[in-house]
Amino acid sequence: MKSKEIRSTYLDFFKSKSHTIVPSAPMVIKDDPTLMFTNAGMNQFKEYFLGNTVPKYPRITDTQKCLRVSGKHNDLEEVGMDTYHHTMFEMLGNWSFGDYFKKEAIEWAWELLTQVYGIDKEILYVSVFEGSEEDNLDMDHEALELWKKIVPEERIIFGNKKDNFWEMGDQGPCGPSSEIHVDIRSAEEKAKIPGRSLVNADHPQVVEIWNLVFIEFNRKANGSLEKLPAQHVDTGMGFERLCMVLQDKKSNYDTDVFTPLIQSIEKVTGTVYGKDEKTDIAVRVIADHLRAVSFSIADGQLPGNTGAGYVIRRILRRAIRYGFTFLDTKEPFIYKLVDTLSTQMGESFPELKSQKTLVENVIREEEQSFLRTLDQGLVLLENIIEKTEGKTVSGKKAFELYDTFGFPIDLTALILRERGYDLDEKEFNEELQQQKNRSRAASVVTAGDWQILGNEKEIPFVGYDTLEAGVKLTRYRKVDSKKDGELYQLVFDNTPFYPEGGGQVGDKGILITPAGENIKITDTKKENNLIIHFSKNLPDDVNANFMAVVDQSKRLRTQANHSATHLLHQGLRLVLGTHVEQKGSMVNHDHLRFDFSHFSKVSTEELRQVEDFVNEKIKEQIALDENRDLPFQEAVDKGAIALFGEKYGETVRAIRFGESIELCGGTHVKNTGDIWHFKITSEGAVAAGIRRIEAITGEAVQKYFSTQEKLMQEIRTELKNTKDPVKAINSLQEENNTLKKQIEILLRDKAKNLKADLQNELEVVNGVKFLAKKVDLDAGGIKDLAFQLGDNVQNLFLLLASEQDGKALLSCYISKELVAERDLNAGKVVKDLGRFIQGGGGGQPFFATAGGKNPAGIEEALENARAILE
Ligand code: ATP
Ligand code: MG
Repeated sequence: MKSKEIRSTYLDFFKSKSHTIVPSAPMVIKDDPTLMFTNAGMNQFKEYFLGNTVPKYPRITDTQKCLRVSGKHNDLEEVGMDTYHHTMFEMLGNWSFGDYFKKEAIEWAWELLTQVYGIDKEILYVSVFEGSEEDNLDMDHEALELWKKIVPEERIIFGNKKDNFWEMGDQGPCGPSSEIHVDIRSAEEKAKIPGRSLVNADHPQVVEIWNLVFIEFNRKANGSLEKLPAQHVDTGMGFERLCMVLQDKKSNYDTDVFTPLIQSIEKVTGTVYGKDEKTDIAVRVIADHLRAVSFSIADGQLPGNTGAGYVIRRILRRAIRYGFTFLDTKEPFIYKLVDTLSTQMGESFPELKSQKTLVENVIREEEQSFLRTLDQGLVLLENIIEKTEGKTVSGKKAFELYDTFGFPIDLTALILRERGYDLDEKEFNEELQQQKNRSRAASVVTAGDWQILGNEKEIPFVGYDTLEAGVKLTRYRKVDSKKDGELYQLVFDNTPFYPEGGGQVGDKGILITPAGENIKITDTKKENNLIIHFSKNLPDDVNANFMAVVDQSKRLRTQANHSATHLLHQGLRLVLGTHVEQKGSMVNHDHLRFDFSHFSKVSTEELRQVEDFVNEKIKEQIALDENRDLPFQEAVDKGAIALFGEKYGETVRAIRFGESIELCGGTHVKNTGDIWHFKITSEGAVAAGIRRIEAITGEAVQKYFSTQEKLMQEIRTELKNTKDPVKAINSLQEENNTLKKQIEILLRDKAKNLKADLQNELEVVNGVKFLAKKVDLDAGGIKDLAFQLGDNVQNLFLLLASEQDGKALLSCYISKELVAERDLNAGKVVKDLGRFIQGGGGGQPFFATAGGKNPAGIEEALENARAILE
């Protein structure tokens, strides 16, 4: 069975059991502060388990793009080393939300594996939760009895809390699980060691393929368990591992999910897979990481310096570095593999096709820049080795190289080993730990349990229509973050406050209590489906009726910027072409920022056209046409632009100003005329193929122009109130050039005179023509002068000193014949005399210079020169 068929067979099977097939959620998560990347199929359904949202369907099935490279699930270090963990993988899943439970989950899993896929029952093992004293939980008898009906007892294994009790995080929904493992070893090996003893023992051919989780508890902040109101099923099966079993392979990398990529790597790098373990690891790392990075970029997450972007950059760098060290790739090559990936997976994941050029460009640029880092790092490491006394290199120095320059520590260790040095790993690890502690201390957030007051589930956002609303608290909790101190998070039954999203910042404002007291709302954010209001204080009476009032001035300016962003997007597509796609957006009350794909600088003329276009649309006073409940497909058919990496529901909100149609949850002006005016303030690059425009609207434009006018006025005043400042500046520049030329001539004359003067001042000391003197020339002038004197005078020993910008300079010239006959050396002279000016230097035996920070020592240096000849 080809992988494509394996995938569709899974989905079709559960469809036949009344499940609705839904698309994969984006891999990069945008509205959950506790999770950066989707790491399991259930993430997008978390709210259903928590009871915050009512599920649309009681049974769902899908294949979910997952990434396990940070937080609770981090497999990065395993990837490549073994043959069955990936950074990015697909998780096939089926869910029941308060519908069927253990019986159906277990029976269907067995039916699918053994009857539909036809896996030999003899190679399957299943596990059951053995119970936990700590949590006062009994063994999962129910699951055990169900399994006993279909699996002989010798292939049922009991697992502890670590293996068989699934938890999403420190808090949240959880429950016992039953795993299904396969033993794909040869008959010979099976005869030697029974498979039973290898389950959960990290054997590459005895691996877990499917986890059936029975969610029935909620883990509270104090660690205790609470029974959930309903019971749910959450299963996850590793797609690549399933392919390995069904295609009769011993490694995920030998399935058709990976072979095309591996062949491309072999071709591009000229290596052969399957001959040498080190090469193989590198090939696997590259094949795996290419997928993770390409999918992220296609989902809109570019490599960067912080957060999710940094994680993606690190994954890509790990691939580059494995190529660099083990495949000897010194030029970018990973970007060349994107083509194969997009051909192979583009049908199931169309974003890979449409974003291909962008993905290639971004990866190539990252490769170039990291290869430069590696080159520089090698030089720096060379310096460190040179300065090392003994054979152990300081862990602190290695840490600096790692931390400041991004030079990989394993590469440092490898190079040192090759050169016969040791790395002080203990010291390195101490430094690393200290840094981790520092950053952990800066970001720790502890949240208490939600205090639930009301039971409203869907929170209606009323902020499109009003900026004030009567509200009641439905829940609140206290959070403690190192960064902001103690805060309260408040959730209301309805709210006019816009939660940060779609690039638009969260609203600020106040909550008015019945007693007329104002409580400040400092920010609003969405966490999954809850709209959370941040506040320093909690009202005395949490059950009171409040008035929630949004800061109107900020909101109005913000929405003008947001509507202007849509017009800008439209203008860019008109002026530059339809390859322009939104890649990032930030809108607040003082400006807007818009990132988009485009492969060259936007010219001044193009910018002006875009600006004119937007201002034209403002002048046309186009009324907002808002549709809050348009079927997704209908919106797209009407020309609305959907963004990759965004999660859209079945119906969407469409914002239309004339020809500009966007799917958008943000707040907007009622009429483009309300934007007043639009001005682009900057344009530049953010990454390969991504440009950024910053702009302002309304009053900010007025302020901008009055600042410009003031500046212009100041320039005029400086230019003696000339009518034509450009002409005045041109003539100043001309004058300046003429003066520079004249100075050059004067300086040359001065040097000529100086040469004559110095020649007259020469003394004879011990048969040598000697002069030590301070002159008023720069380093270049002194060198010219010394060489010219040397051409004229034989047997010359010259020490010239000068002082410039508070620094001292000594230059020593010795005729070549003296160097040979009298064993004199200018390098040694300046080194020796350098101590008077607190400096050092060197050069050649006949000419050398020393710089120092103590000009006061020049006299002494000059006085001591004569002694060298005496
Ligand atoms: P393992 O112990 O093998 O790391 P896990 O216990 O972390 O697996 P789950 O969190 O239960 O796995 O995930 C469900 C399924 O997803 C697993 O049964 C496995 O088939 C698959 N899976 C988990 N992690 C990975 C990974 N890094 N790469 C590929 N597949 C994975
Ligand atoms: Mg794992």
